[in-house]
Parts: sequence; structure tokens; C-alpha cells
Amino acid sequence: MSYFSGMLDTYRHKGMRRRMIKALQDKGLTDQRVIEAMEKVPRHSFVDTAFVEHAYEDKAFPIAAGQTISHPSTVAMQSQLLECEPGMKVLEIGTGSGYQAAVLVQMGVKLYTIERQRELFTKTNPLLRKLGYKCETYYGDGYKGKKVFAPFDRIIITCGAPYIPQDLLDQMASNSIMVIPVGEGNAQEMMLIRRTDGKLSEERHGEYRFVPMLEHRGSDI
Ligand code: SAH
Repeated sequence: MSYFSGMLDTYRHKGMRRRMIKALQDKGLTDQRVIEAMEKVPRHSFVDTAFVEHAYEDKAFPIAAGQTISHPSTVAMQSQLLECEPGMKVLEIGTGSGYQAAVLVQMGVKLYTIERQRELFTKTNPLLRKLGYKCETYYGDGYKGKKVFAPFDRIIITCGAPYIPQDLLDQMASNSIMVIPVGEGNAQEMMLIRRTDGKLSEERHGEYRFVPMLEHRGSDI
């Protein structure tokens, strides 16, 4: 049994994770790397104590600052669409609870993740560290990406973007993928932008619901 920041990861949790994976496979999860990572990452350590018992249901829960942890099925689909391989340089916009970040780190990528809400950044950064998920976390504006570390092999946006930010397109490697839910209001279209030898193409992968990607509001960022 491993000990997670005051929270145990028991055989019961592992069993619940295996059942969650079966349900996700019924919904279309096939990527073996994603399956193995989600089997290992203790989602119950990323939700508030009130929701621990429900952590392995396909539900989103409130985290802090009016945000939510993504549904496991959304994390599964976005991770699968990314086609990650170990060692790739990946940029995540919207650290939130840190769960999606942990799944990507577990898959062996080099992760940079940006969060716009200071409250969440200060909560999640130490949590990821305590749980042993090594990645670079930043408090900042995801619309700008992280130019100093560009280009990225993969970019994943975990909030609903009103449009595809040009800065993020500019930070894609010449052979790379960006997965981004695009749309304002209640629903977003999951878009996959592929850059192949510099050329861009796009695919659409169905409708999802995300909290909005916030614009710069003249605060301290
Ligand atoms: N990946 C997260 C999803 C959290 S919800 C998880 O697994 O829990 C989306 C997150 O995006 C929220 O935490 C929200 O504060 C953040 N966000 C919204 N607009 C942003 C922006 N412009 N830059 C960075 N993060 C942003």
C-alpha cells in the first residue's frame, strides 16, 4: 500500500480504478499507455474529501476557485487523442486539480502546465510534488503558452477556448498535435490540430463541456 498525502491508496481504490477503466474502454478508450497510466494515478487524491467515495465515477467535481476536475472519460479521450510517447515535451493549459497532469507524467512525458487561478496553482503545485509527479507548473496565462520552452510535441487545453490562440499554434513543433476544446457557452467541439512537416490540418472529435478558458483580465499576470 502506498501513502498519498494523508490519503491511502488501498486495494479497494485499485479495484475501483480497474472498474473505471472497464467503463472507459466501453466508451472508446483503447490506448494502452493511457489505460496503464489511469490504472495507476489515484484520482481520489485529487478531489476534495467530500467526493473521495465518488472519485472513480465518471463525474466532474468542484475543486476550487469555481473550477472543476475533468470527467475521467474526458481525460481518457484527450490523453488518447494526444498520441503521446514517453519523453515528448507536452504543454498543458489549465492545471486545475492536477489529475490530467499526473496522468500525462505517469505516461512518461516531460510536462509543462499552466494555471490561471492563483488559488489552484498554490494548492495543486505542492500536491503534485507530494504525490511524486515531476513536472513544471506555472501560474500564468495559457493564451500565451510558454514561449521559452517551445516548441512542444503536444499541447493540451483543458478549458473551453473561444478560439484557437495563435501563440499556441506558433509553439507547436513541426510534427506535433494540439488537442483543444473550442467553443463559447455550454458546449465545445473537441478539435485535434495536427502539424505534419509544418503543415496544419484539423479533425473534430465530438462535443464536450468545459469551464471557460479565461482571458487576461488586467490582474497580476
Ligand atoms: N486539467 C484539469 C482541468 C481543470 S478545469 C484537471 O485535470 O483537473 C480547467 C482549468 O483551466 C481551471 O483550473 C481553470 O482555472 C484553468 N484556466 C482557465 N483559463 C485559463 C488560462 N487562460 N490559462 C491557464 N489556465 C486557465
